[in-house]
Amino acid sequence: MTGRISHWIDGKPWGGVAERTGEVFDPATGEVRAHVDFAGTAQVEEAVAAAARAFPAWRDTSLAARSRVLFAFRELLAARKDELAKIITSEHGKVESDAAGEIARAIENVEYACGAPQLLKGGYSENASRGVDVYSIAQPLGVVGVISPFNFPAMVPLWFVPNALACGNTVVLKPSEKDPSASVFIAELFAEAGLPAGVLNVLHGDKVAVDGLLEHPAVKAISFVGSTPIARYVYETGTAHGKRVQALGGAKNHMVVLPDADLDLAADAAVSAGFGSAGERCMAVSVVVAVEPVADELVAKVTERMTRLKVGDGRDPASEMGPLVTAAHRDRVRSYVEAGLAEGASLVVDGRDVAVDGGGFWLGPTLFDHVTPEMSVYRDEIFGPVLSVVRARTYDEALELVNANAYGNGTAIFTNDGRAARRFQNEVEVGMVGLNVPIPVPVGYYSFGGWKDSLFGDSHAYGPEGFHFFTRRKVVTSRWPDPSQGGVNLGFPRNS
Ligand code: NAD
Repeated sequence: MTGRISHWIDGKPWGGVAERTGEVFDPATGEVRAHVDFAGTAQVEEAVAAAARAFPAWRDTSLAARSRVLFAFRELLAARKDELAKIITSEHGKVESDAAGEIARAIENVEYACGAPQLLKGGYSENASRGVDVYSIAQPLGVVGVISPFNFPAMVPLWFVPNALACGNTVVLKPSEKDPSASVFIAELFAEAGLPAGVLNVLHGDKVAVDGLLEHPAVKAISFVGSTPIARYVYETGTAHGKRVQALGGAKNHMVVLPDADLDLAADAAVSAGFGSAGERCMAVSVVVAVEPVADELVAKVTERMTRLKVGDGRDPASEMGPLVTAAHRDRVRSYVEAGLAEGASLVVDGRDVAVDGGGFWLGPTLFDHVTPEMSVYRDEIFGPVLSVVRARTYDEALELVNANAYGNGTAIFTNDGRAARRFQNEVEVGMVGLNVPIPVPVGYYSFGGWKDSLFGDSHAYGPEGFHFFTRRKVVTSRWPDPSQGGVNLGFPRNS
């Protein structure tokens, strides 16, 4: 018997019978653990209608009451984080400690949203002109759509949902069909925290559900996270339908190691950031740029650490790296190992040899050296446990490589030279930069987003830019005149 995962619409599980469903796997065993309902146009309509009905009352709910719901949700999430981590591991495959890490980062975003009464304050200028006051107010947009990827089934929805709700919007969340249960768990917790029915809805499915949201006139904004081709499509389609869109795409994150760096620290960082979550992170390090003469020594240190990594079922506390999310994705990543070999890269550690019991979607940590920019292992986002080392002769050559790359999500430099680090931070064309920090995911009170093909739109996710994205500003100019001050004047109003 496998389970069924269904939509959450208007504060309860959807009661209908789906025309199409998808399989949800347990990646460590390879077995189908559940079937997820896929929305058709009728369910898109149902979810958007529920969100639209809930909007007027939620918009007019006081700031105090809205933030009380978020505080209550934060407490419930913290209390039940172990349960949620297990759900994530059972569908995504990442080890439970890593799932707990994504929940911890998600909680930061909820805590930020709890500050809505402070964050939504406008400005007020008394006497902008004689007897005239000017002030600004921030208002919600209406129904917003959130479309999320498989790799952070709790954190990415929670980059957007708490801020969108705090600002007074209602939400239709379309999570990845590969690991949809975390979103339903989150919606249930919100209901328990006192969120009224219809304010947050979860719609499962594929392109049909996404297109339904992109085209629906009642949906005012879309926050999307996923691969670059889909992000571009979502941005172009959503904006063509008059919506505000932020669409975060894929990545190819370079970690530059300068000759003066502490190579043990750099090797620890490369292995942690390259193979954590089996490389299925948009901020994973996938390219190490070793500035000579350190490449041989660095590759030796990385290799030595890789051979000690324990690959296994994410439920086993001894495991450090779990399986890939699906067999299809594992096969795609594996095909890059073959492509790298065919293109002439040196295969230092071959993850295809990994031996794990059971029928899971396994691929071990893999390391290529002597990778060059024309190779597909360098050009494409692989999104798996495959790390490439490119050798550069100088800092300038390394910088040029990073800046020439189509993606610009995250990058890091490892060095003990503050001047070199400062120069890198100034010159690199990437949205999130780590100085001796391999995965520089900004804290919840900054905002997350890349440059170039890693982001379409001009708002980054969460933090101050999240609040900006989920509100419309209105400026009011007000005068309460004395009746004696009347009279027609066709001149352009001046301040006196
Ligand atoms: P994906 O692009 O395949 O899917 C993302 C979402 O889009 C899912 O909800 C999916 O159902 C939907 N979708 C898929 N194909 C579609 C289509 N043809 N039309 C409309 N909607 C479609 O991405 P994924 O494999 O789930 O996630 C991995 C990708 O996400 C990687 O590229 C990774 O770099 C990226 N990612 C980026 C960030 C970031 O912040 N920049 C964060 C996490 C993941």
